[in-house]
This record gives sequence, structure tokens and C-alpha cells, in this order.
Amino acid sequence: MQTAPPSTSVEGSPIGGGNPSGVLPPSLVVSIHDLSTVTRVTVERMLEDLERVGVPVTSLLVIPDHHHKGWIDADPRFVEMLGGAVARGHEAVLHGYYHLRPSKAGEGMATRLITRSYTAGEGEFYDLTREEAAGLLRKGKESLGNCGVPFTGFIAPAWLLGAEAEEAVRGEGFGYTTRIGEVIDCRGSRQYKARSMVYSVRSAWRRGVSLLWNEALFHALGKSPLLRIGLHPPDWEHEAIRRHAMNCIRKAATERQVTTYGEWVRGMRKDEG
Ligand SMILES: [Zn+2]
Repeated sequence: MQTAPPSTSVEGSPIGGGNPSGVLPPSLVVSIHDLSTVTRVTVERMLEDLERVGVPVTSLLVIPDHHHKGWIDADPRFVEMLGGAVARGHEAVLHGYYHLRPSKAGEGMATRLITRSYTAGEGEFYDLTREEAAGLLRKGKESLGNCGVPFTGFIAPAWLLGAEAEEAVRGEGFGYTTRIGEVIDCRGSRQYKARSMVYSVRSAWRRGVSLLWNEALFHALGKSPLLRIGLHPPDWEHEAIRRHAMNCIRKAATERQVTTYGEWVRGMRKDEG
């Protein structure tokens, strides 16, 4: 889902007014999507690499039962890894439950394009009813809670959060959520426009386009108050992608305060009173 690079002047500022400049220093949030029992080992390697380029903390987007392949809270190695990361300052974020969206009968072309072509069927929270979403959120809160780590955010798989699912996220008491183009503080409903960099690696042509796109986006977002870089474990299997991401992150980390989504949202609340 790639569009023209956004203008930078309003990035990170609240939609609909508020304090556009903020008092927070320019910030960088690196998020690692899809941490689960399936991807734990790769994510550990990613965290080591990131630490070497000045990123000691990230937002870790955790899938409780990734494609039905194993509950996080039933895997002691996972619990230990996540607990250790959070103790070092990383943030745990709930990221769907199965991270899979079962396709439904009678879907229109637009829905099929978004949920299958764009995400390869991963948009779990794209079109759930409020009740369905609330049920998965409650199960997810229980699993992540069983791992013994605090968490306040929920981010939908592929950032595809439908309107009813967003209501459920608020109803279940989450402090914030994000989409690809915005960060939403659920307390008081403040939204901050901030486009995330993210790579698409499913095919050679997507990787080629993705490198060009993210290079342009990185420059377009140079002066934005909040730079968001979203990584996925498969990014680390493609050296050109990994190198590009690491170069952008290394540069941004020298110019910006490295933080997590949770810390950034809390900081903006203080700024705006
Ligand atoms: Zn994901």
C-alpha cells in the first residue's frame, strides 16, 4: 500500500490542532513486528544488530499464537527472552492473536486486494465485529500477561485496524494503537500523523520497489518529529533490505532520541498537558 511520500511539515503533529511542534526532541521508534515462538531466534539476532547501531530499545510486536503454531506463554524460552528484553527497556505490544485473517464468502474486489495481495491474508483485525475483536483482544491480553511483562499498546497485523476493532481496542483499555500513517493515543483520542517506513520482501520486484520507496521516504521524513521504522523477521533474510534498514537506523539514531511507542505517547501527553 504505497503512495507518494508525504509532506514533512505536519508529520508527528496532532491531527486537528494541539501542539504542533511539541517539546519532545526528534524521536526514533524502531518496531519489530511478529515476535512469536516461531520468530524468536531471528528477533534475538535483530536486537543484537540494532544495539550495535545505537538502538538499545524497540517496540516488540508480539503475536500470542502465530498461525496457530505455539502459544507464547507455554514456551519458557520465549517467556525468558521477552522478559529479558523488557527488563532492558524494550516494550511489549500486543499484535493480533493468530495474525491470520480467514477469508470470508462474498468479499468485494477491494477487500480481496487489501487483505490478500497487500498482506498475504494477514489482516486479522481488518473487518472484525466489535465483539469478535474484543474476544481476541481479551485472549491476547491474557497470554501476554502470563508472560509477566507490562504492556499498554495494541497494533493490528499489517496495521489493518477496522473501525469496530478500533472501538474494541479502546473498550479493552489499551493506551494507544497505530496505523501505517498515524499513532493514536486512545486516552483523549489524539492522533499524530507519522508515516512508518516498512519493507515488503515477498518477491524480488517488491524488494526492489521497497528499497527505492523507503529511500525516498527516509529523506522525506528527515525533519519529522517522530520517525517510525517497522521491521519484520523476513527482512533479515534479504541482505540488501537488512543493509538499507540498518543504514537508515544508524543515521537516524545519531540525530534522534531512540524510544518506544509507549514512551513517546506518554511524553506527548506530558507535553500537551
Ligand atoms: Zn505483523
